[in-house]
Amino acid sequence: MDAKEFRKRGREMVDYIADYLENIRERDVVHNVSPGYLKDLLPEEAPKDPENFDEVFKDIERVIMPGVTHWHSPYFHGYFAPGSSYPSILGDMLSDAIGCIGFSWVTSPACTELEVVTTDWLGKMIGLPEEFLHCTEGPGGGVIQSTASETVLLCLLAARTRIVNKYKKENPEMNEVEIISKLVGYCSTQANSSVERSGLLGAVQMTKLIPDSKHSVRGETLKQAIKRDKDKGKIPFFICVSLGTTGTCAFDNLAEIGPICEEEGIWLHIDAAYAGSAFVCPEFRHYMKGIEYAETISINPHKWMLINFDLSVMWIKDSTLLVDAFNVDPVYLKHVNQGKVPDYRHWQIPLGRRFRSLKLWFMLRSYGVSGVQSYIRKHVNLAKQFEKLAREDGRFQIVAEVVMGLVCFKLKGPNELNEKLMEEIIEDKRIFLIPAFDKNRVFLRFAVCAERTNSRDVEYSFGVIRDCANNVLAVHSK
Ligand code: PLP
Repeated sequence: MDAKEFRKRGREMVDYIADYLENIRERDVVHNVSPGYLKDLLPEEAPKDPENFDEVFKDIERVIMPGVTHWHSPYFHGYFAPGSSYPSILGDMLSDAIGCIGFSWVTSPACTELEVVTTDWLGKMIGLPEEFLHCTEGPGGGVIQSTASETVLLCLLAARTRIVNKYKKENPEMNEVEIISKLVGYCSTQANSSVERSGLLGAVQMTKLIPDSKHSVRGETLKQAIKRDKDKGKIPFFICVSLGTTGTCAFDNLAEIGPICEEEGIWLHIDAAYAGSAFVCPEFRHYMKGIEYAETISINPHKWMLINFDLSVMWIKDSTLLVDAFNVDPVYLKHVNQGKVPDYRHWQIPLGRRFRSLKLWFMLRSYGVSGVQSYIRKHVNLAKQFEKLAREDGRFQIVAEVVMGLVCFKLKGPNELNEKLMEEIIEDKRIFLIPAFDKNRVFLRFAVCAERTNSRDVEYSFGVIRDCANNVLAVHSK
């Protein structure tokens, strides 16, 4: 394809994308295919000779779209949908075109420096203390990672290195394997699955703490767990505090947990993957009380801040804890300006990295702080609208306080009834949502996170749930 054809195809693709997103309401949110559907639609071998791009283009609707779950549909209420704003998509297009691999400053200074500026902008927008920013004298700052899961693993490994070094110094007779076998990390039973997985990947025990009736882990629970573990000769070294859990958007009690971590020398990481975007609005910042005790915090602008996947931001107060922990410095990666600006290869697991800050920059300039705040508040209001409809219906129970864009609800009655309701909604296919489970209770999650969802869509989705509930209850009452 030459530049002339690329211009033509590019225009066609931009039109296709805009049509796709603007008319997404007309597509079924859930796919209608069975496993293996795609291989029957394509030849077994790659084409021997070049094909005309018209043929490729036609196959988007024939081959791809039937097997797509439309995460940007206003009827997508599962998980937490990623953003899809046009400025963000344009940022990714430019990133693909520039195509630099910005692992160190010298490999493309703009890639590193825009990331430094935009993570500072974002840090200030959500009210982070200055120690987390690049613009101060200290070793703190932000970095763009691919996902929040990757960040938890990275922080856990850095915490592991810090504690191993400390123990080796104080107990020269202990070797690394012995120390690691005694380590214990903590998280809520409600923490994202990636936290437990980080423990497995990092070969350390991860103890799950039971939250209170509001799904919040309290300081006293951590204190008791630490005591129990220390009595057994274990070494507490890490905790992942969830601010906005995946299941119910619950908040661990950071203000209580923070001082305990400081006293015990435990690395405090905050996973605010979803809810962190809402801290742009001052009315939600009280959940961050105790943030000064954290070593690291991450939020996913690719969840609730208009950015398309992937873009997760992590801030650290002392970046030397990463840089020194995993420093491999071959001659081919060195450059004369080393040390003056971050070389982000030290702040992440892979070597290569994309120019992701472009999409953050485009989005922040196009929406401004006020635009992002309105976006968050709109979704919170839509969640409140859904909550009101569910309460007014009388047959539903709200199972967790609705504080952001997530409503957790169930039909009053046994689990079996709610499992049936979920099955009915899946079969119906008009909307998409997922179930969750806590304290032996099955419930449903209604997340408002897709950019285009409006008040009428919420009414529509609630109507679908009501229809499904009617069917389930009609059978149940026989
Ligand atoms: N943490 C929380 C609270 C989440 O809700 C999720 C995903 O929904 C994650 C972490 C994982 O995010 P990522 O896909 O960026 O790893």
